Amino acid sequence: MAFKMRTSKPEAGNKYYITKANGGYSDAIKGSPTDKDCDVLSNCVGYAYGRFNEIGGYGYCKYLRPVNAENFIQYKGTALKTGQTPKLGACMVWQKGATLNGSDGAGHVAIVEKVVSDTEVYTSESGWGSSTPFWNKTRTKGNGNWGQGTAYKFLGFIYNPAVSDEKPADTTPTPSTSGSTDEKTIWNYLLGKIGNEYGVAGLMGNLYAESCLRPNNLQNAYETRLGYTDASYTAAVDNGSYTKFGTDSAGYGLAQWTYHTRKKALLAFAQRKGKSIGDLNMQLEFLCKELSESYKGVLADLKSAKTVLAASNSVLTKYERPANQGAAVQSKRAEFGQKYYEKYAGKTVSSTPQETGKETTNMGYTNSSLVSYTKLSPNHSGQRTHSIDRITPHCVVGQCSVETLGNIFAPTSKQASCNYGIGVDGRVGMYVEEKNRSWCSSSAANDQRAITIECASDATAPYAFKDVVYNKLIELCVDICKRNGKNKLLWFGDKTKTLNYTPKSGEMVLTVHRWFANKSCPGDWMYARMGDLATKVTQKLSGGTTDTGKTDTPTSDTTTLYRVQTGAFAKKANADAFAAKLKAAGFATYIVQIGGLYKVQVGAFAKKANAENMMAKLKAAGYSGFITTQTSTTTKSEPAKKTAAEIAKEIFYGTCSDSRWSTWGNGATRTSRLKQAGYNPSEVQAEVNKLFSK
Ligand SMILES: [Zn+2]
Repeated sequence: MAFKMRTSKPEAGNKYYITKANGGYSDAIKGSPTDKDCDVLSNCVGYAYGRFNEIGGYGYCKYLRPVNAENFIQYKGTALKTGQTPKLGACMVWQKGATLNGSDGAGHVAIVEKVVSDTEVYTSESGWGSSTPFWNKTRTKGNGNWGQGTAYKFLGFIYNPAVSDEKPADTTPTPSTSGSTDEKTIWNYLLGKIGNEYGVAGLMGNLYAESCLRPNNLQNAYETRLGYTDASYTAAVDNGSYTKFGTDSAGYGLAQWTYHTRKKALLAFAQRKGKSIGDLNMQLEFLCKELSESYKGVLADLKSAKTVLAASNSVLTKYERPANQGAAVQSKRAEFGQKYYEKYAGKTVSSTPQETGKETTNMGYTNSSLVSYTKLSPNHSGQRTHSIDRITPHCVVGQCSVETLGNIFAPTSKQASCNYGIGVDGRVGMYVEEKNRSWCSSSAANDQRAITIECASDATAPYAFKDVVYNKLIELCVDICKRNGKNKLLWFGDKTKTLNYTPKSGEMVLTVHRWFANKSCPGDWMYARMGDLATKVTQKLSGGTTDTGKTDTPTSDTTTLYRVQTGAFAKKANADAFAAKLKAAGFATYIVQIGGLYKVQVGAFAKKANAENMMAKLKAAGYSGFITTQTSTTTKSEPAKKTAAEIAKEIFYGTCSDSRWSTWGNGATRTSRLKQAGYNPSEVQAEVNKLFSK
């Protein structure tokens, strides 16, 4: 198993964050304010001490001492090494004030969850007296004190012996784009069994998160504890010198099989086949056997999934079932799966018939046939490292021709370029082929995935385009979407939301230069038309006849409600816990049951735009989600779960059993809420009247 980042507060009952007095592993003091689930929080010491040991999975707090934060290095013991280079799982230690005693402040500690570079890390932390018991934070080295105030001095990283230096899966942003033989073998094998590319991609994203697709992968935390590497463990199991494979609880293999019955079955299967326990094909066969015999529901989901996310969530919640199945994990795994989908879907021949009418996806990079002038610029980074899922229109600030643009981008001294340009007469020029990353938007990350288009514009604000240019831009965007397997162009109008959005298969997203640099580009004229551009392009892509997915739906269809779904859980308790967390953060949250899963949704909006605003708020608060019109299949006809008398009591005492509201309210509000919850308002009112007359 790869290192799993902690991106949410430790769950209730997690012993690493509970004092020994309360049955936990920790000998730290209780936090302040004391968290109801994890009583050593809120406190940086209680948290970091617990997390450091949790990473190793020791079952008790083996390393570090719960002393003042600034004394962590002093009291770390001799087993642990320290240094100034960030490493995964390490404990960061700051001194506060001039002395190493608490009289002038007790310092701070945090845990490295992700190493972005030698000068940037992503941490998990808590803090004494904080109303928030847990948070993640990006910290940069800066002048050397890693983002703490000037009263603090950074002392160093205490390295976690449970984490090897090997780069773990969760810190790898995306699966490799080059593609290993194993990756292709796995895709082809699974496609043969499942016959649905969404299903295969969703499953592979999970396998990647578990094992980086390495069949001999031994869970990192156990490498230290058992004294084995991936290879030596595999060899010892194969030659019989290690006999505890079935019972050691160490995750192993593609799916990181952990539970004793499954590991024993895997071993027996390998032995029957005469294969190594780390053999890829044997593990794939075993995995499919498990799916077809013991996880039939998951296999059915994979065969019928219409999105990578749906397939991925089925595997996550019903097959892999890791401790953390939260929204962040769901979206991460689906994102991994999406990469495989983009890379392999439509490119392999399946032995099973595919869905008919399925659009072919990106077959590799091509260029637009609308181009009438080409002058390739030397100013680019070579082949892009991210598939195309964005378009970024720019304004040239000058009514120039495609030839002039070609001359501007020709010298290497210019250090700028774009994929396409549209001249003042509406002709299209190409300066950097689509397969390559242009230097256009002041953002490497954006240019890696965007087609950049410079459009001839006025030289002064609002930098208006000629009609012929704007119309050509629409045409070019349609062409780019079509050739890259997209059927929808989206404009969210919000930087944070857009940059955090993972486009679904078939979606292309608009971005603008002004988000990445202090510029007005694409100019206020074009900026005001981004929504129009998205709508028109999507209309053309769908033939202009059907629903375009446009965001400014003029009619308000009251029967369709848009909700933001933030999580899906197999267990109701998990859904309840997650919903409670969202509620505590101020979101109107409720749970619906769809297809055997408990889905946590926020809001119900007649207008999609409002649902999108809510999603932006959720994203800003650190949650992920997507908009759905799906609701419980039984909402409307569902019989009331409580009697009118019971509901009347709730009204009488000012409580409410429906998680959408804190009270049933009064007057028209009450009537509407009762109706929405499936109760008869007059029946309930009659019961309320009885209570008041008592
Ligand atoms: Zn620009």
